[in-house]
Amino acid sequence: MSRLATTGEVLQLVRSGEAVTRAEIGRVTGLSRPAVAHRVAELLQRGLVVEDAEGPSTGGRPPVRLRFNAAGGVVLVASLGASRTQIAICDLAGEALARTDVEIDVEEGPDVVLPLVMDTWERLLDGRGGGDDVVGVGLGVPATVEFAAGRTESARVMASWTGVVIPPIIASRFPVPVLVDNDVNVIAMGEHRMAYASELDDLLFVKVSTRIGAGVISGGGILRGALGAAGEIGHIPVRDGGGVLCRCGNVDCVDSVASGTAILRDLREKGRDVTSLADVTDLVRAGDAETMAVVRQAGRRLGEVIATAVNLLNPAVVVLGGDVAEMFQPLVSGVREIVYQRSTQLATRSLRIERSRLGPGAGITGCALMVIDRVLSAEAIDGTRTP
Ligand SMILES: [Zn+2]
Repeated sequence: MSRLATTGEVLQLVRSGEAVTRAEIGRVTGLSRPAVAHRVAELLQRGLVVEDAEGPSTGGRPPVRLRFNAAGGVVLVASLGASRTQIAICDLAGEALARTDVEIDVEEGPDVVLPLVMDTWERLLDGRGGGDDVVGVGLGVPATVEFAAGRTESARVMASWTGVVIPPIIASRFPVPVLVDNDVNVIAMGEHRMAYASELDDLLFVKVSTRIGAGVISGGGILRGALGAAGEIGHIPVRDGGGVLCRCGNVDCVDSVASGTAILRDLREKGRDVTSLADVTDLVRAGDAETMAVVRQAGRRLGEVIATAVNLLNPAVVVLGGDVAEMFQPLVSGVREIVYQRSTQLATRSLRIERSRLGPGAGITGCALMVIDRVLSAEAIDGTRTP
């Protein structure tokens, strides 16, 4: 580091494991011994690092090792889905300390959903003996989000949420930084960080459930685009979709021909008695040929859009998640067939197409990491940027 490192930068060194003793911090930063002591004392006092007495002995007195203190605060997180919302309290490493799922229709609107989420956080905090150590709040919502403002867009999907600026509503009860992002972006971040970060930096996450959406990890970070709408692949049309009118008003969007909703509709049109994705999953497991064919066809159509995304983004892995991952095999077979046929050879040379490793927990983890990265950033710790 060419200039004097701040307290916040010293915390990053300890968190990353790059420097974990006072001597190492001095070497990496070039700070004087008193300056290192001053910054470490501040981090100890704020409860963000702790001292481990036991260090590897090098003959003399072992150096005191510093460790990031994941118990130095909690974050409140909620991953809102169309019909089910996951709500949790996490430590500063993103581990859930308490968690509950609530069945609620997100279309009930923010006036109903947000108070319910906040009441649930209060209840979970009470269960741990209070909430004076809350350092931030993170939400994933099934809508396009203008990330910087925490404002939901996308009138087509959640009409009652359009234009709602969520952070001030939450901050009136929890006066801490509040971050809001699109649900699939949050899931993609959680999946990448917890399952793939050590091996690759470029990942395309595609969520296939009631609807279809994607989150793009590029160069290790989430790709949001100018207004946060990057990855909204659901309304890209497919070829030969059969002229299905999509809820957005266009024809043959991948969402209208390959989502869970579309699979159910296609099976019903064939006279099959299915009411939920669980019914479809049962039929796939039982090896029902007609169902497998419908799911595989959905996979092929999804594959068309993913092939285009692969050519554009060149990810190392495409991760398929969401409820429809249950029927992974015929769906992924369809996706693979088309992606390897239509993407360039270079883009697919070492491309993997896999099922989500984290499963439904990825949303909670991703929300927590989104908040933690912000509130523990060097700028936030040093007070040089309002979180
Ligand atoms: Zn559409």
